[in-house]
Amino acid sequence: VFADVAKILISREQIAERIEQLGRQIKQDYDQLDPDAEIVLVPILTGAVIFVADLMRHLPIKLRMEMVAVSSYPGKAMTSRGAQLMTSMPKDLTGKHILIVDDILDSGSTIRMIRDTLSALNPGSIRACVLLRKQIGSAMQTPCEYVGFDIPDEFVVGYGLDYDNYYRNLPHIGVLKREVL
Ligand code: 5GP
Ligand code: MG
Repeated sequence: VFADVAKILISREQIAERIEQLGRQIKQDYDQLDPDAEIVLVPILTGAVIFVADLMRHLPIKLRMEMVAVSSYPGKAMTSRGAQLMTSMPKDLTGKHILIVDDILDSGSTIRMIRDTLSALNPGSIRACVLLRKQIGSAMQTPCEYVGFDIPDEFVVGYGLDYDNYYRNLPHIGVLKREVL
C-alpha cells in the first residue's frame, strides 16, 4: 500500500499537530457559546472515523456521538453524484449542539445535505468540521466552521480516505501513483 503512494501531502505529525489545535479551538468556542452545552458529534461514515477518533480525544467536553452514513461515491467513481443518507437520522437532537465531522469537503453536497437534514430537528446550534478542504469554488463556498487543511484539487487517500475502500489505513494524506488509479 505504501508503495502505491506517489507523494505525501500531509504527514502524520502535521495531522496530529493540527488536530490538537482544532480541539483547543473547538473546546474554547463551545465553552463560550454555552458552558453547559451538550455536544453531539456526527461523524460521516466511513471516511471520518479516524479523524473523529483522534479529534474527540482532544475535546475535553461532555459529548455524545451519532454516526451517520452517506453515499456519494458509488463504486470506484471519483465524481460525486449528490449525497444520499443511508442511515436514519439520530433522534433527540432538540436543543443539542451538533458538530458534523467529515474527512474532506469537495463538492460540498454531503455537508450541505447533512446540515439541512439535521437543522430540521431543531438543534441548539449546528457546525461542521472537516480535516481537508479542496481549494475549489464549491468547497470554499460551503459553510464550514472548522477546517484542518486547505489542499490542492487532487484525489487524496489515507487517514480514513479511501480509493475503492482501500488505503484508509495509511497514517498520512497522500496522492496515489497514476498507474494505481
Ligand atoms: P462532497 O459531498 O463534498 O463532494 O464529497 C465529500 C465526500 O466525497 C467525502 O466524504 C469523501 O468520502 C469523498 N471524497 C471527496 N474528495 C475525495 C478525495 O480526494 N479522496 C477521497 N478518498 N475521497 C474523496
Ligand atoms: Mg466520506
